Amino acid sequence: MSGFPVAPAAREAARRGLADAEPRVFWTSQAGRPAIREPLTEIDRVCDLAIIGAGFTGLWAAIQAKEEDPALDVVVLDQGRVGDGASGRNGGFVDPSLTHGLHQGVSTWPDEIGTLEAMAAENFDGWRESLERYGIEADFHLPGEITMSVVPHHDEAVREAYELHAAHGGDVALLSREEAYARVHSPLFRTGFLDRQVGLVDPARLAWGLAEAAESLGVRIHELSKVTGFEDGGGGSGAVVIKTDSGTLLAERVVLGTGAWPVLNRTRFYVLPVYDHVLMTEPLTSAQLAEIGWEGREGLADAGNQFHYYRRTLDDRILFGGYDANYHFPGRIDPTLEQSESHTLLAEHFFSIFPQLDGLRFTHRWGGVIDTTSRFTPMFGTAMRGKVAYAVGYTGLGVGSTRWGARVALDLAFGRDTERTRLAMVRSKPIPFPPEPVRSIGVRLTRASLAREDVTGRRNLWLRGLDKVGIGFDS
Ligand SMILES: Cc1cc2nc3c(=O)[nH]c(=O)nc-3n(C[C@H](O)[C@H](O)[C@H](O)COP(=O)(O)OP(=O)(O)OC[C@H]3O[C@@H](n4cnc5c(N)ncnc54)[C@H](O)[C@@H]3O)c2cc1C
Repeated sequence: MSGFPVAPAAREAARRGLADAEPRVFWTSQAGRPAIREPLTEIDRVCDLAIIGAGFTGLWAAIQAKEEDPALDVVVLDQGRVGDGASGRNGGFVDPSLTHGLHQGVSTWPDEIGTLEAMAAENFDGWRESLERYGIEADFHLPGEITMSVVPHHDEAVREAYELHAAHGGDVALLSREEAYARVHSPLFRTGFLDRQVGLVDPARLAWGLAEAAESLGVRIHELSKVTGFEDGGGGSGAVVIKTDSGTLLAERVVLGTGAWPVLNRTRFYVLPVYDHVLMTEPLTSAQLAEIGWEGREGLADAGNQFHYYRRTLDDRILFGGYDANYHFPGRIDPTLEQSESHTLLAEHFFSIFPQLDGLRFTHRWGGVIDTTSRFTPMFGTAMRGKVAYAVGYTGLGVGSTRWGARVALDLAFGRDTERTRLAMVRSKPIPFPPEPVRSIGVRLTRASLAREDVTGRRNLWLRGLDKVGIGFDS
């Protein structure tokens, strides 16, 4: 059951539009990708801080650790290339929220939301200042994001989102049908909620720039260095022994920014790897641009449970992603899963939103794996007598918040008691997902129920039950 209104002509437009799309990530295929960094080959190389994962979490952890203490010897290991995980293949929406949006924050941490919002604003300022300080050219701009209503029962959700943000002092506006259409011409848009605090970035250039910034501070980054095991206190030194296929590292402290990959057994029950899919079009001609308006280049999303996110890039392509969130039994992560029938569905939805763009071609189609928790916010914790700290589970909203998540992980790894580590959001764990095969059955039932709600506007018994115990499924 699809809650999204597909126009009949969109099916044929989608088939033609996808015919030549290359199965690779647009962002990381661009010119300017740095040369490969050498894998770790040393045996028993000693360092103060090892960071596993060269995505945003790992890179921000490296930068902030060196900013705090330039004398620290910091080494980053990644199984692939910098930004190859979710960080280099996402939509590039930079939302200041640390809580998967204000509504989630208010309902899950009503007592802490003020502190979380203040920390979010401080983090967003720090994020932007760091890009400037290190000269990271990642096309960051701040056009805001509009959440569009595309079916009647979205109208109320859009208005409620506006009212909640307005009550919390957000820089927001509620757009009528005419105002929404004046910004972006789609026959489907009914009303819109504009949040002017959301920015857009080129995520791969951001990851590459952060890696260079870390190196400029003296951090060593090794790519193609998959961590295959940890040992506590190996060799009698008390350090954590980290093994890769070609080397070993002895680290006093370790930060894990490994996203959806289950490096520690204990995170397997809390973090679900969920595939999300994305399309990128060729650059639009000036005639095509005139057909759609969108001069403000706002980030767009629609208001359903299963929602799309889309943006007009600075070189006038359209990125279009989201909607399906695909979990593969029993938590499989595999590059073959990046290509999917979800791309066809996305293309059909794209031409339903923009029928006037019939004839436009997609140049790239890709997928990425999202680290999903049952409460949509990251999970923090420590292992091995507190020497290893992790920050994983951003559930599709980590471009901005990973900088803050990295800081929490550093606090935990160095045993610091801070305002951040005292937060319930940091101290408590989300409700774990059940083991397989119940997990897959639960995901299927939840997805079907969410899709049904998108059609009917009503939450069924299953979803209301999950709401009661505080479990959700999102990407
Ligand atoms: C398709 C898609 C669209 C998204 N859109 C948005 C968006 O518009 N806005 C937003 O805020 N968020 C978005 N997100 C989420 C956002 O991209 C993530 O929250 C964020 O990038 C997480 O960063 P990370 O560093 O924690 O994880 P990752 O970027 O996934 O990095 C984890 C790294 O760990 C490495 N690793 C894993 N296991 C090992 C091992 N054993 N040894 C060595 N290295 C290992 C991986 O190779 C990887 O590089 C999206 C995600 C996806 C997939």
